[in-house]
Amino acid sequence: MEKWIDGKKISKEIKEELQKEMAELKAGGGERCLAVIQVGNDPASSVYVRNKKKACEYVGIKSVSYELPGETTEAELTELIGQLNKRSDVNGILVQLPLPEQIDEDRILLSIAPEKDVDGFHPVNVGNLSIGRPGYVSCTPAGVIQLLKRSDIPIEGKECVVLGRSNIVGKPMAMLLLRENGTVTICHSRTVNLKEITRRADILVVAVGKPGFVDESFVKEGAVVIDVGIHRNEEGKLCGDVDLDSVAPKAGAVTPVPGGVGPMTIAMLMANCVHGPGQ
Ligand code: NAP
Repeated sequence: MEKWIDGKKISKEIKEELQKEMAELKAGGGERCLAVIQVGNDPASSVYVRNKKKACEYVGIKSVSYELPGETTEAELTELIGQLNKRSDVNGILVQLPLPEQIDEDRILLSIAPEKDVDGFHPVNVGNLSIGRPGYVSCTPAGVIQLLKRSDIPIEGKECVVLGRSNIVGKPMAMLLLRENGTVTICHSRTVNLKEITRRADILVVAVGKPGFVDESFVKEGAVVIDVGIHRNEEGKLCGDVDLDSVAPKAGAVTPVPGGVGPMTIAMLMANCVHGPGQ
């Protein structure tokens, strides 16, 4: 097992595989098209949207983008999504979050047809994951599973601890580890004796949203530690939820930030666009 899990390399591998699949698909007359909607001009969202469109271009997926003004109403956005739901040439619909405050995010996510919900946030897809039926899976946790599998880290029978229970990371992460036959514990802000539980983990996935929260005292000798967090520190550098200087010497394998989980999210979005909901 390599000490550093290289998300940049693994995400590139996945995008190259998808590029080949798309070339074959197109040779047979097939096509994939992702509609990307951004409301307002939040600079971080603009960077994410630009990166998603660039990845589509690289893989060979068509993308159509809708840049709507910040004062767009919920009715206007719902109307656009309704039209895209009906278009047979559009396979995936992605609404970049966060949305301006006059728009209810939950209602918008519900308005996307589940079979076009490439982010895997619709309750139908979340429900399918939890009962073991095919459907779209949330991209970041799906990326963590690929990091583990492609680094030859077995999940079956392992003690897996997920630190965080958000709808987009913690909960789907736990369901995916369970699907891979891990023994899964979810921890959150009300967990008592947190370190006692995290120190049991063979695989510890940290999605707590607090820079450097996990130090070596949370980690068992030789454990695999996956850091989902992304933050900018006082010097403007990217860092995660794990204090790597403290954890790396004790862990069996770790993901760096940047270059660990981050690049996997877009790669898995591309996989969702190419493969559709039948995974
Ligand atoms: P979130 O919605 O803020 O959830 C954080 C979770 O951590 C909650 O479940 C919370 O518990 C738990 N928590 C907070 N403080 C805690 C404490 N002291 N002890 C134990 N548990 C605690 O965050 P998220 O959306 O899951 O994101 C987590 C991190 O991942 C963020 O840094 C985010 O930026 C990053 N992220 C990265 C990617 C990527 O592409 N790499 C994608 C998504 C998110 P409660 O539920 O009890 O409040």
